[in-house]
Formats: sequence, C-alpha cells, structure tokens
Amino acid sequence: MSTTQATWRHGSCHCGAVEFEVRDDLTKTATGNCSICKRAGWVLVFAKADNFRLLKGEHAQTDYQFGKKNAHHRFCSTCGVRAYGEGKGKDGTVTYVVNVRCVDGVDVSKLTPHAYNCEAM
Ligand SMILES: [Zn+2]
Repeated sequence: MSTTQATWRHGSCHCGAVEFEVRDDLTKTATGNCSICKRAGWVLVFAKADNFRLLKGEHAQTDYQFGKKNAHHRFCSTCGVRAYGEGKGKDGTVTYVVNVRCVDGVDVSKLTPHAYNCEAM
C-alpha cells in the first residue's frame, strides 16, 4: 500500500492572476534539460487532463511557443511566473506540465526530482 496519496493541490503564479489545481502525490517530480526548462529552472510534474484544472487566468497569460510548436509554454503576463504549460502527444492526448514551485506549501528541497531528458523530445 502506498503511503502517499494523489490529492488535489492548489497553486498560483506570484500575483495571483493564475490559479490552478493539480492532483498528484509529488513522488515523480522532474527537472528538464531542454533549452527552456534549464532557463526556467522549474521542478515539474506531468498531469493528465483529468488531474489538472485551471481555476482562473486563462487570458491573463502569454503563450510562448518555439521549435515544433507542440507545447504551450505559458507565463503570467503580469508577474512573469510560469505556473504550468501543456502539450499534445502524438495520439492527441493533452498533458499538462505543472511547476511544483508554484504549488502551495511544497518544500522542493524535500523532493527528489529525477532528470527528465526533454531535450531529446
Ligand atoms: Zn501572475
């Protein structure tokens, strides 16, 4: 039996224009090595559409895309914080990428993120 539970967790950007909830147990966090992940420096979790809800701020963000433009690298247009982004897989399934640093009450120094090879994607 697992001792951790995938519970809904609230998060936001810095100014509060963007708020979201993610359902995750935070046992599979990661840091990426692609050109944008290493610059942004975030600790991330992947969430299927069922496990992510945007509470507010859809239009408060700037959508940045580059390269193959498969992914939406969103950031708050007011405070500049990247709370989440999303992309579509080859099968059309949307996966959200959530910045754990934006989730309330998370001490990232207690997490053990693995190295995610997004540069190869
Ligand atoms: Zn903001």
